[in-house]
Amino acid sequence: MDRVSFQTVREANLRSVLRTVRELAPCSRAAVASATGLNKTTVSSLVADLIGRGLIRETGETSQRRVGRPGVLLALDDRSVAAVGLEVNVDYLSVVAVDLMHRALRERHVPLDARAAGAEECARRIAAVVREFTQDPALRGRGVVGVSVAVPGLIDVPSGIVTRAPNLGWRDVPLGDLVRGSLAGVPVLVDNDANLGAMAEFRIGPCAGTPDLVYLTGEVGIGAGVLTGGELLRGAGGWAGEIGHLEMEPGGPECSCGRQGCLEALAGVEAILREALPDRAPGRPLSGGDVAALVAVAVERAEGADPVALGALARAGAWLGRGVAALVNVVNPGAVVLGGYFVPLAPWLLPPCREAALARSFAPRAGGCRVEPSELGLSAAARGGAGVMIHALETGDLPLPVGPSPA
Ligand SMILES: [Zn+2]
Repeated sequence: MDRVSFQTVREANLRSVLRTVRELAPCSRAAVASATGLNKTTVSSLVADLIGRGLIRETGETSQRRVGRPGVLLALDDRSVAAVGLEVNVDYLSVVAVDLMHRALRERHVPLDARAAGAEECARRIAAVVREFTQDPALRGRGVVGVSVAVPGLIDVPSGIVTRAPNLGWRDVPLGDLVRGSLAGVPVLVDNDANLGAMAEFRIGPCAGTPDLVYLTGEVGIGAGVLTGGELLRGAGGWAGEIGHLEMEPGGPECSCGRQGCLEALAGVEAILREALPDRAPGRPLSGGDVAALVAVAVERAEGADPVALGALARAGAWLGRGVAALVNVVNPGAVVLGGYFVPLAPWLLPPCREAALARSFAPRAGGCRVEPSELGLSAAARGGAGVMIHALETGDLPLPVGPSPA
């Protein structure tokens, strides 16, 4: 993200009023003054400024007060700005736009063989999808405050460089600059897909509000976004959460990292498909476009009680449960959310996963950890990134928009 300090005193006060209106809406100017400790004249001026920028609006209703003039109520303006979140993964590009209330305005899922396309072509596709999105009737006339791109790999977040993304075959790709170059003036954030997925699950879905939460990406790779106390755990060099490369079975199947017996070589989607559909997915790596179709075949066979598919899913679920137990032993999450392609496979993965997690955790009852499927499917990382951009307006990590774009 473009980390510039936009915190003049007035800007800090504008953001404070914005946060307060989000918390208290619908609320009067007097309520904002009392919650922020700012005087009423200052609040009136700040509110007028935020209305001009298209960030808050008057609801048309008034507060019921016994004494004095009734106050006009304020709420966030969900009509003027949007943030766009994307995820580029091995076989798709996922894109979502959200409004100031974090509500999805428009979503799209584009099949894309990212391994074959290469980084520069992916960056071009990302910019093209964003431009196309802003012309969509659901977004036309809205100012785009920021664009986030989630990538399955190690990211240097301040520079927007993808240091390593083995499943995409990328190394030291300046993705932030490549995308920013095609989107004049729009701030761009590049972050890890699991981290942004965890931020989405923290904000929406069945485990929302759980401050110690782990999101597991169910893609060709398995990454973990780890929230402890509501904060992302990144580690000293940004490598935290690489649970996919935890060695589970010494001498086991080969992994994309060059080692053997890693969790993702046993329970990643590619590994599951290879085992569940030996007639359909014999080799690796699968070509990008095949994954979604093959997952659908695996679901169909599991529903039809095909013993090969059921056996493969049961084994993968048990490996995942061992991974969850490792997480429980180290960070004691309140919830582990299975995302991506794990979601359609969850009816078969979850029972052995929960059982193994309970049996192999040191803490009784797996330390109180729930294991749940995501409700966001393949949109979690895109949704999480868009949410981070909206939140950045309130924290000062993004400049406040000047005003609504002309329609
Ligand atoms: Zn590995």
